Parts: sequence; structure tokens; C-alpha cells
Amino acid sequence: MHQDAASQVIIAGGGPAGAALAVLLHRTGLRVILVGRIREYRAIEGISRRSLQALHGLGLTRTAACAVGPLPRQVTWGGEARAPNAEWLLPRPAFDAALLQDLREAGIRVIEARITALESGEDRVRLYLADGRMLTAPWGVEARGRATSRRQFLDRAPWSTPAWILRGKTAVNTPDSAALSLSDGGWAWWSRLEGQQYLQLALPEATLHHARRAPDAWLAAHPDLSPLWGRTKIHHNYQRPSTIGRTRVREKRLWRLGDAAMAIDPLSGQGIFNALSSAYGLAPVLNSLIQGACLAPLERFHQRRQDAQYWRFARAGRDFYRQAASRDSMTAVPSPYWVRRCHWPDLQPLHLPEPWTRVRIGRGLAISGSHLAERALVFTPDQPLGIQAVAGIPLAPLVEAMQSKDHRRAATLLADAGPSAPALIRWWADHPDWPALP
Ligand SMILES: Cc1cc2nc3c(=O)[nH]c(=O)nc-3n(C[C@H](O)[C@H](O)[C@H](O)COP(=O)(O)OP(=O)(O)OC[C@H]3O[C@@H](n4cnc5c(N)ncnc54)[C@H](O)[C@@H]3O)c2cc1C
Repeated sequence: MHQDAASQVIIAGGGPAGAALAVLLHRTGLRVILVGRIREYRAIEGISRRSLQALHGLGLTRTAACAVGPLPRQVTWGGEARAPNAEWLLPRPAFDAALLQDLREAGIRVIEARITALESGEDRVRLYLADGRMLTAPWGVEARGRATSRRQFLDRAPWSTPAWILRGKTAVNTPDSAALSLSDGGWAWWSRLEGQQYLQLALPEATLHHARRAPDAWLAAHPDLSPLWGRTKIHHNYQRPSTIGRTRVREKRLWRLGDAAMAIDPLSGQGIFNALSSAYGLAPVLNSLIQGACLAPLERFHQRRQDAQYWRFARAGRDFYRQAASRDSMTAVPSPYWVRRCHWPDLQPLHLPEPWTRVRIGRGLAISGSHLAERALVFTPDQPLGIQAVAGIPLAPLVEAMQSKDHRRAATLLADAGPSAPALIRWWADHPDWPALP
């Protein structure tokens, strides 16, 4: 049974990425329909303050209310204990159910159903449901998560092993969490919420194979994990794919979003943040496209933005693995688990130096409100996509004034910046060889 969805965009998948995009497009007046079903497996995931703020900013208040925290983020990495910031715990699938509920309350059309296929023709996308219905619309978005993208990856980390999840009950009710690197290679994220405890493990392949044969005995004997888990029985254990990779952002009339576009290392704990931020990136692309802007530059902009984020996450992860390897190497030969992860994706530092002589002004696409528009941007080796503004203040005029040594103009621009000026001045001062602002 064919139905024209009477929508400009069909979104497949109602996780954080699909839901955020639905809200952003709906706010700009586009007709959107979201089709998805609630993620089945029970998990606890951790999010940061900025992800929580993003959920509030999107008006996903029921969803944001699922987050329990703030809890101090306790990390023991390479034997060194830190509490760098705070995190909030999310029970999934309660979080996923709240997302769909929030969308409905915002007046967005939601169909809760299993999708059997999503494909793009030359002029429309077609989405097939398990009940036999087929919906069509001019544009579609694939946001069904990590499992849908694996076959489309342009590249992938050479060492992704599945995550092993253990769940159990606990009599202790206070929420808590901890992340740690394991002395024999691999890492763990443990959390406790609403009488449940949850352990997510990334282990060397041989250890995983061995541990899965007798999970309770293995856990009880593990010197780092048994004090966290205690004596309770493992209630349930299962594997989840955690392959890392990125795809092309578009195929014909279908755009990819969230994990379906770019699956990052669960080590980062930033999957939900990345899902939300990818929606903020795609919404202005679709708005501009539907208003008649030329496809090629929009797609190029979005692909470059996604790739830059992907490589940045990959290099940040590599540096964590290096830290663990270098700690190990002080006392013994580092575990092959760390060594394999020290070289991907490359040897390039996470941040490149930004000498004043390499700062350039040019024009390029940038997000401007709900659309993309050409703007004056500041390019540096570390920011090849260009910086439009810092603390909301356009940066190019200030750089231009300083490059031409027009200090009077620079002073006027800073005065005009009002209360945002101190943030901009602090940001500028982080570049030690840039000329001092007046
Ligand atoms: C082991 C592991 C642990 C993680 N821990 C964290 C963490 O602590 N913090 C964090 O921020 N991130 C974490 N992540 C990442 C996080 O889960 C994802 O990055 C994030 O949920 C991606 O959002 P998404 O909307 O792109 O995809 P998803 O959240 O996966 O949403 C996809 C949606 O599509 C639906 N769907 C899929 N197939 C169909 C179908 N056929 N029909 C209808 N609907 C369908 C699903 O039910 C789901 O609702 C972890 C990932 C893994 C693998």
C-alpha cells in the first residue's frame, strides 16, 4: 500500500540523531515525518553537560528528565585516578521512548513501526514498513544507527572489537559510574542506576573469548572489576558491535545522520553528543537545499564537517590509548591491545599549531541561523574549515584589523562586542604568537 507521506523529509530512526533533526526541521516549518521503533536492548549510557543542554535546547524536556546526575566522572586511566568533570546517566530504552513522546507533543508526525527497507530513486525516497505500507517523500534521512552503516563505510578502524555488556541487579540504589583502563589491556565503563548495574567492556579478543565461557567466574577473579561489581550474579550478557567508521553523507536523495553516518569509538562516551551535533549540521543543509540552493557545495560542506569531526574523535581516542601504553611501558612491555591502537588514524597531533603567519581570511559556507550562507571566515592549519565567530562575535573583521595593524579599528570592534569581548580576548590569548589585542 503506497502512501505519499505528504512530507518534505522522511526520517528513518528515532534515536537522538533522528529526533533532534526532526525538531530542527519542524521548527523551520518543514513538513517532516519520523518513522522508527524504540531501541530494544537495555543499556545505561553516560552523557556530558553539553549533551544535556542540547536536549533542553531542543525542547526535548521529557527526554532530558530521564538523565540522572550530575555524578562526578571517575576515571582511572593507566593507573592514574582523575575526576575530570560530571556525567549524567541515561537509562535506555526509557530515553528512546521519551524522545518519541517529546516529538509527538511538539506536533511532529511519528510512526512507530519497523522499517524493512529504505531506498532512494532519482526523484523520491521510498520507505517500506513491516506492515506492508510504503511511504515516499522527496528527501530521506537514514538515522537507524550504527548497524545500518557498516557496509557503506569509506574506511574503518582496523581493530574494532565488539563491546561486551554485562547486566546485573544490585541492592544499592545510589547512582554511580566509573571508567577504567584494565591492566591486561582494554577498558571498562561501569554504572549503577535504579537497582541495576551495567558493565561495558572493551577487551582483547582472546580475553573476551575466554571470559565469555564463564562470565561470573572471570568477573569475580578480575582484580580491577570485582570490587566494582561485587558479588551479585550476572543477569544478562551480550555483545554489541562497536565498529568505527564513516560513510558518505549522501546517496542520491538519502542523507545519513548520527551513527548511521559516522560511528565513533565508544571510548569517547560522546556518541549521543555526536548524534545531536550531526543533526545541527544537517538541518541547515536540508533547509538550504529545499529552498533551492545548489546541492554540490552543501554536500561538500557537510561531508568535510563530518570528516573533520570524525578524525578529531579518532585522534583524541588514539591519544588516550597512547597514554595507557606509555604508563604500561614504565613497568612492563605494553599490552598489544594498546600498541595496536596507538597508530590509528595517523601520527598527526590532535591540534596543529596556528602561527600568526598562517592565519588567512577567505570566504566560505557557514551555518547562519537555520541555513547555510557564504561568510568571511578565518582559516588556520588547525581549523581548515574556517572559523566564523568566537563567542558569537565575527572573527574575520578583528583578524583583518590586526593583520593591517589597524589597532584603532580592533579596539572599536572589541568595544562593540560588549559583554562577549572577554571570552573572545581569552580565546585570542590562547594563541601565544598572535599579536596582543589593544
Ligand atoms: C557499547 C556502546 C556503548 C555506548 N555508550 C555510550 C555512552 O555511554 N554515551 C554516549 O554518548 N554514547 C554511547 N554510545 C553511542 C550511542 O549509543 C550512539 O552513538 C547514539 O545513540 C547514536 O544515536 P543515533 O540516533 O545515531 O542512533 P541510535 O541511538 O542507535 O538510534 C537509532 C534508532 O533507529 C531505530 N531503528 C533501527 N533499525 C530500525 C528499523 N529497522 N525500524 C525502525 N526503527 C529502527 C532504533 O530502534 C533507534 O531508535 C555507545 C555505543 C556503544 C556501541
